[in-house]
Amino acid sequence: MKLILLGAPGAGKGTQAEIVSEHLNIPTISTGNIIREALKSGTEMGLKAKEYMDAGKLVPDEVVIGIIRDRLAKDDCQNGFILDGFPRTIPQAEALDRMGIVIDRVIDIEVADDVIAQRVSGRRVCPACGASYHVDFKKPAKEDVCDKCGDTLVQRKDDHPDTVKERLQVYHDQTEPLKDYYANCGKLVIVEGQEKVEDTTKLTLAAVEA
Ligand code: AMP
Repeated sequence: MKLILLGAPGAGKGTQAEIVSEHLNIPTISTGNIIREALKSGTEMGLKAKEYMDAGKLVPDEVVIGIIRDRLAKDDCQNGFILDGFPRTIPQAEALDRMGIVIDRVIDIEVADDVIAQRVSGRRVCPACGASYHVDFKKPAKEDVCDKCGDTLVQRKDDHPDTVKERLQVYHDQTEPLKDYYANCGKLVIVEGQEKVEDTTKLTLAAVEA
């Protein structure tokens, strides 16, 4: 299964990706996580991406397309994968098509902007393993400590309110047109992502298994 998870920043793509990844035993590929890793390691690509990321803008298409091309060539992607955060523009989707990658399904997780703003402001992430939590809705067992690896949780710089506004604008302008792109080839499934995580998960798994 080759799956794309679409949705605004904070719609819950990462959480659903984790669940589907375990369910189908296929890897999740998150361009955001790959870029944050590159930044942590101080690579040239990471440093270049930082200014875009911190401002809530998209990293240039050619950079993320290169990242995805390299990642999808690895052995663990041969039985399928989940793309979380890619594509985010029409040229990125077209690049995926040109790579000869046939996507089975695109799940769009729909959440209203005001709910997103509330969710993202409470999001905390693990800088070591990338796991994501929320101060109200998905608390770790011990406050501010990652359940998976024990590192101290942090708030992402681009989860601050002004940057979130910019990221939502970018989403509506550049990423939302992908809904039509994939609806036109019959691949889009819309999932309501506004209620409890368990409800979204049920809908997502049903969409994957349909
Ligand atoms: P995310 O963790 O998916 O919210 O991504 C965090 C940031 O990484 C985004 O706000 C962008 O700056 C950058 N980024 C991640 N994926 C992409 C992409 N497909 N295209 C452009 N920029 C991206």
